[in-house]
Amino acid sequence: MKSDNTFRIALFPGDGIGMEITDPTRALLDTVAARVGGFGFDWQPCDAGAAYYTKHGTALPDEAIKTARAADAILLAAMGLPDVRYADGREMTPQIDLRFEFGLYAGVRPVKPVPGVRAVLADPKAHDIDYVIIRESVEGLFAPQAPGSRNENEARETMVITRPICEKLFDFSFALAERRGGARKVTSVDKANVFQAFGFWRDIFYERAANFEGVAADHAYVDAFAMTMAQKPWTIDVAVTENMFGDILSDLGAALMGGMGYAPSADIGDDHAVFQPCHGSAPDIAGKGLANPTAMILSAAMMLDWLGERQGSSEAGVAASALRGAVDAAFSPGQLVTCELGGQAGTAAVFEAVNAALARIDV
Ligand code: ATP
Repeated sequence: MKSDNTFRIALFPGDGIGMEITDPTRALLDTVAARVGGFGFDWQPCDAGAAYYTKHGTALPDEAIKTARAADAILLAAMGLPDVRYADGREMTPQIDLRFEFGLYAGVRPVKPVPGVRAVLADPKAHDIDYVIIRESVEGLFAPQAPGSRNENEARETMVITRPICEKLFDFSFALAERRGGARKVTSVDKANVFQAFGFWRDIFYERAANFEGVAADHAYVDAFAMTMAQKPWTIDVAVTENMFGDILSDLGAALMGGMGYAPSADIGDDHAVFQPCHGSAPDIAGKGLANPTAMILSAAMMLDWLGERQGSSEAGVAASALRGAVDAAFSPGQLVTCELGGQAGTAAVFEAVNAALARIDV
């Protein structure tokens, strides 16, 4: 943070609907900072993504990495386009490259529906769902140090699980459960009955659990855990899992919150963090004004919380609560039904409702 209480934010609008949800989110952040007072933002827009690649031959230019490295936090909308691919057929994923570049091992994916949004699960307890999936984000099946191979007869991928990342990841998860102060439980979601990598993972999980006396530790196989997410999600507190499993389970979590447009996330490392909605660039709805910006707004609230903790800014923490409160008020029952849930509210309507609620909220 600069001496004038200004947070430098590297801002990546990216591709598709990313370009459409960035400005509303930025405007809300400026508004909430002005309302709370005591801090502001120095916005540093960064060009990157699949569309950028088509013009410049790189999806994540050095200039953007440099800006991101020097920033206090990175706010990213969405990147990648299905039709823009590398020669080997893979999509561009600069948002994943940033995780490796900055060692962002902890992918934090809260599953907590906005109270007024129609519950997806029929059980009345669905309104009480409040848990966090921690997706390991720099190795597992996505490990860059073990690229897959392919020839005419076979293709292979390698899963990498290392002790240093596991230790940091599990410590992060137990500390989060402690801070949340709820059930104080961390569940290892793995497949230790079939893969030795997960046996190794689980051994380290229980080693680290021993250092957190006030937090319970248990484990579940990933297939059974997927059922728990649908059948009794209120029993989950913090769940920590491998990269690929986390990729899949966090989309399930998003669906249980009402859709991808409601699911925020943070990718956190020791020195840097990226905040971005769980969803991708959604080319099927891009350019139509239908994108729900809520996931990015809630990701921005997570950014404010993180900045508040790291930089000792109580104002940023107050602003995070105000922004979340404004989202809850905007979606109070019957007010706003987004397109993904069969309603009419698109990007502009959600922005206007959250902005109006922000003007009314006590800070
Ligand atoms: P990626 O692999 O890049 O994360 P994806 O394949 O998971 O992307 P998304 O782009 O997240 O795909 O889109 C999945 C579905 O959710 C699409 O039907 C899309 O229209 C919808 N969707 C995603 N984000 C939003 C949003 N913010 N508002 C409304 N619908 C969305």
